[in-house]
Amino acid sequence: MKAFKSHLDYALDLDRNDALSSYRNAFHIPKDENGNDWLYFTGNSLGLQPKSTKSAIEQELNDWAKLGVEGHFEAKNPWMPYHEFLTESMAKIVGANPIEVVVMNTLTANLHFLMVSFFNPTAKRCKILIESDAFPSDRYAVETQLEFHGFDPNECLIEWTPRAGESLLHIEDLEKILEEQGHEIALLLIGGVNYYTGQYLDLKKIAELGHAKGCKVGIDLAHGAGNIQPDLHDSGVDFAAWCSYKYLNSGPGSLGGVFVHERYAHDKTLKRFAGWWSQNKATRFDMRQPLDITPGAEGWQLSNPPILSMAAIKASLELFNEVGMTALREKSLKLTAYLEYLINSLNNPHIQIITPKDPNQRGCQLSIQVKNANKNLHKKLTDNHVITDWREPDVIRCAPVPFYNSFEDVFRMVEILNALLP
Ligand SMILES: *Cc1c(COP(=O)(O)O)cnc(C)c1O
Repeated sequence: MKAFKSHLDYALDLDRNDALSSYRNAFHIPKDENGNDWLYFTGNSLGLQPKSTKSAIEQELNDWAKLGVEGHFEAKNPWMPYHEFLTESMAKIVGANPIEVVVMNTLTANLHFLMVSFFNPTAKRCKILIESDAFPSDRYAVETQLEFHGFDPNECLIEWTPRAGESLLHIEDLEKILEEQGHEIALLLIGGVNYYTGQYLDLKKIAELGHAKGCKVGIDLAHGAGNIQPDLHDSGVDFAAWCSYKYLNSGPGSLGGVFVHERYAHDKTLKRFAGWWSQNKATRFDMRQPLDITPGAEGWQLSNPPILSMAAIKASLELFNEVGMTALREKSLKLTAYLEYLINSLNNPHIQIITPKDPNQRGCQLSIQVKNANKNLHKKLTDNHVITDWREPDVIRCAPVPFYNSFEDVFRMVEILNALLP
């Protein structure tokens, strides 16, 4: 590992030499009662607000006030094609071609809509595989999909689990499950970056293994989009979905992103739940035409989208466009390595980082297990304005975000954690 040093001066030096340090000022950082910035490490849960978001939303409010329905065509950013303004930037963030990406709905809803197309079970091939530590919403989504099709989740939901006494997944274990049951599995739905451990899985390998057995492969990128560079197109996965309020800083409950691989762009045989926004743009407003699905990921849209929410996404994506994922990831690797170094330097036998040590197998988040701790530790951190995330039974999830976290934030966070540890 790169040799870091455990002094505040050294952290300040790293900040001075950080080409992205000025972007912290592009965000609102919450402050304590004395006006000091919180140490905010939950960009993996709700990203901070870009200062440009407010004016982007105001633009649409003003155009609505001035133009009413005419805003669909006459607004500065016409609402009719508004989602198209987001596509290229969003595609770049996840490594996709524009035809493969659309911003629509919310994440769990999108998983269901995508499963309408990519989970078509038969009596012989009816199972879904997820990782055992899948986010609850994903688990509920696949359980209810199975039930909807008349299958019992107790029999048809297969879990890829860590080995006894371990927290991380081994690809060899997935290979083994597929070797034994692949012919019965219709769909693999996997978190590309696991929300709990922070493990970043090899999407290309998962797609190869799944496809070799005739399974469809879908990826939940909620913890990947804006964090790692997933190269979705090249990975070959069939579909992916993510939200925009975590690393993509687009505000609570904001719309999600969807990827459907280009190989399906003109496939009109896939089942889907359609709406008027699925319709070919040339005839969408004739209102009397039979359904003619628009090509690409856009063909999965149903409704005309909420522009105010999209305005927030637009403002955020402009920042991503300006900096680019390559530079963000470069800083992220360093920032997380620094956090890892400081935690390990504490030499405290009560704590252990469960996230992979290999930087290529993780994003910015480190999941820190604190033996015999309880939520009280998390509360004390919060009382000290260190905002982290607690997951039962004993894990603190800490995500230094390259856009707005500094090396100084990381230094101070570990200093406070150290003082609170047994
Ligand atoms: C955040 C998150 C969700 C939340 O889904 P919403 O539908 O946006 O509320 C679902 N799955 C994963 C893996 C997540 O990280």
